[in-house]
Amino acid sequence: MSPKDVQIFVAFSKHDKETVKRFGSATAKESVALHKAEFEVQKAAPAWQTVRDSLAASKALFFLVGPKLVEAKVKGGDEWAQIQMWMGYELGLAVALKLDMWVICDNDVTINFPVPYLNNYSLGIETKSNGYEAKVIRSYGEGAKFEFGYSKTRRYFCPNKACGAQYNLHNVLQKGETIVCPSCLKVQRFPNGWQLQL
Ligand SMILES: [Zn+2]
Repeated sequence: MSPKDVQIFVAFSKHDKETVKRFGSATAKESVALHKAEFEVQKAAPAWQTVRDSLAASKALFFLVGPKLVEAKVKGGDEWAQIQMWMGYELGLAVALKLDMWVICDNDVTINFPVPYLNNYSLGIETKSNGYEAKVIRSYGEGAKFEFGYSKTRRYFCPNKACGAQYNLHNVLQKGETIVCPSCLKVQRFPNGWQLQL
């Protein structure tokens, strides 16, 4: 299988143009195909079929969380209802298809809506062509999978018993840093840091 046969499904808010640009510039040189889908799809038909078929042909689902998506949650209303509908649909399909499910927050963006079933969580987008996102996309092209626990140093267990989410946490965190669990939105504390020895 050549990298060009590999597809990744990337979903985002149409208003997060900067986030999409950053992710696009990070991954532009990789030969993996990206299927880009906006959450604000108006007509369900035939979009639900397109989404289904495209996810079935993909290795992973990436949710890009930009500032406008976070804003849309705060605003609520019809647009957020629409976004949630598509998120739920895509997530459900990804689970059924056993795809990797990534949540990638843009720089300085904190997620404010829960995403269940993810197995990869990454904060910040590196725009340089050999940055983290570029390497991840390239690895998919080379046949890699990022299932939970693929790397022992990255596997994270949310200590909130009501959540219990398990995912690969891709960032290096300094001692005392905090992040928000994307599954339960509880603040996670890292008194000893995370992946500091790498
Ligand atoms: Zn959690």
